[in-house]
Amino acid sequence: MNHKKTLQKLFTFIDQSPTCFHAVENMEKMLDKEGFTRLEERELWHIEKNGKYYVNRNGSSLIAFTVPDKKPSGFHMVAAHSDSPCFKIKESPEIAVDNFYLKLNVEKYGGMILSTWLDRPLSVAGRIMVKENDNICSRLVNLDKDAAIIPNLAIHMNSNMNKGVEYNPQTDMQPIIGDASLKGDFLKLIAKEADVKEKEILGCDLFLYNRDKCRLIGADDAFIAGPRLDDLECAFAGMTAIANEMPKNFINLCVVFDNEEVGSGTKQGAASTFLKDTLDRICSGLGIGKEEYHCMIADSFFISADNAHALHPNNQGKADVTNRPAINGGIVIKYHGSQRYATDAYSAAVMKDICNRADVPYQSYANRSDIAGGSTLGNIAMSQVSVNAVDIGLPQLAMHSAFETAGAKDIGYLIEALREFYR
Ligand code: ZN
Repeated sequence: MNHKKTLQKLFTFIDQSPTCFHAVENMEKMLDKEGFTRLEERELWHIEKNGKYYVNRNGSSLIAFTVPDKKPSGFHMVAAHSDSPCFKIKESPEIAVDNFYLKLNVEKYGGMILSTWLDRPLSVAGRIMVKENDNICSRLVNLDKDAAIIPNLAIHMNSNMNKGVEYNPQTDMQPIIGDASLKGDFLKLIAKEADVKEKEILGCDLFLYNRDKCRLIGADDAFIAGPRLDDLECAFAGMTAIANEMPKNFINLCVVFDNEEVGSGTKQGAASTFLKDTLDRICSGLGIGKEEYHCMIADSFFISADNAHALHPNNQGKADVTNRPAINGGIVIKYHGSQRYATDAYSAAVMKDICNRADVPYQSYANRSDIAGGSTLGNIAMSQVSVNAVDIGLPQLAMHSAFETAGAKDIGYLIEALREFYR
């Protein structure tokens, strides 16, 4: 694959996906172009050999799958997540400040680095619900302009600023969206954008997003930087890979779950039945019985792809002593003694074999033994569909910052490895 083109596609995908809803819509457009058939959960499915399909749940989680032309012996699955830490706009969000400003009342979605959201051009995007022909329908919206900002306090008003500041999400992190004359008009702006009347809006899932665009960084273009790299990089790689390889003996799936950043416990999260329901329906569509299904599950493999921490240039001591992923050092296989990562000796061996066959470098990550670290999708998804699984990711810096940094080469490595897996 042309590396420059791949990076450009990744940048466009992330820039045009300010929220999980937009990410899913853009992945669907990608799959439409590749000849995939859209399925709806509420309709009957007709699954055929050699077919390519996708289905979403809640408009925020997406499963793409492809079927071989012979009897499948199992499932080859890749998972990533569509959501990133950000600010959710509350109901009745308008707060007027004296007669000067209009602020939005927001709350945290996920565990972000709060300070990185200060002094940046921000905007509002998400979905609204309207009634159309007796149905409640979703419409995506994006103000798509530099509409808001969360200003820092001047250092003159807090001379201890550079010794560390504790930010209160309710009092320090509310963005201004205009002057006081905008009072009463926020929802009107959203309605206008969606081409509906304000009173037609029956529900909102609206978020703040960072307006900064993805770009190459470094005198030698070694790095990429942008918002939401965790985990849109892996979602993009998974969808690109599944669209480029038809399976031979296995049913291939690429699963992008919502709500990883808030614990995965929703109807569309990794802990939900979305994947299991989809596997059940694929099997009944292909006339595969329960007993055969269990044989297939035992012969399946699951790659959970969610970004990993690279060695930090200014904080080397935070990394483990011997497992220190390098940016552009290849795919990171994640290990955790208490099994927060699904990787074990067997699944690591399978992953390394895939990387070797794809001629792609790999490296290992473990937390320092005195740091708890984060969680991810693998072991959560395994509570519904239990198969051999490995947790991997691309090495990155500043995870959960509004603007993250990763390697320009690593995305290509992941696409190649996942294509090899799907082959
Ligand atoms: Zn993640």
